[in-house]
Amino acid sequence: MLDHISYTQINTYLSCPLKYNFQYIERIPWPFKPEALIFGSAIHQSLEHYYTGRKESRNVPINEMLALYDASWEKETSENEIRFKNGNTRDSLLKTAESMLETFLKTVKPGEILAIEQSFSEEIIDPETNENLGVPLKGRIDLIERTKSGIAVIDHKTAAKSYDDERVANDLQLTAYSYVMSRQGHDPEDITLRFDVLMKNGKCAFQTYQTFRTPKDHARLFKTAKSVIQGIKAEAFYPQKSWMCNGCVFERECEKW
Ligand code: SF4
Repeated sequence: MLDHISYTQINTYLSCPLKYNFQYIERIPWPFKPEALIFGSAIHQSLEHYYTGRKESRNVPINEMLALYDASWEKETSENEIRFKNGNTRDSLLKTAESMLETFLKTVKPGEILAIEQSFSEEIIDPETNENLGVPLKGRIDLIERTKSGIAVIDHKTAAKSYDDERVANDLQLTAYSYVMSRQGHDPEDITLRFDVLMKNGKCAFQTYQTFRTPKDHARLFKTAKSVIQGIKAEAFYPQKSWMCNGCVFERECEKW
């Protein structure tokens, strides 16, 4: 029974339907957590703390952000085995985090903060035919700001390399956010969609990428979600070998399949 779907579920199914099965149907416990996931989530919590402070008109020093980062690692390390890559350690990643957050604090120019970690649940409706999939789209938006040019919907990322234009123009997560905002009464062409990306490699940098979506993109999101839901209901779970297999937490189950 599929009572809702998230962007992450759609993306997991599109990347590898078998992984979706292991993750969301069989709910197989993870034998380890990849460092990149823990790192990204710890940085995310630091940024959430920063914006919460800014919303209260408070300056947030880096040591507060690092305390959040470290608490997140502490919790994950006590509950999970962490798999590190490229010779990284918790200490080396802490140094990287410190440089990244310093760069962020020097560079960021927040607008008026309207919402932080805003949850949503919206019916998935084809804007062209009004067909309703009957499975709501649920998720959370990292940050919504009012800027000089209107409303900006922002997702925070950490990345090892810069994003290319094609990725930003076609990213389904941003399309989902644009769709959600349009369901909440906003004209999609008035909504700026933004990735705020903290770079991990080399010189730590803070990059922002802006785009927008149209009702045509929402119609494509509807069709994509419909096909994914049909695949899940039909139990169409098959392996999709790709670069993402390297470090997949279900490697062993996949071998046995
Ligand atoms: S190892 Fe690759 S093909 Fe197998 S479940 Fe993981 S992502 Fe899918």
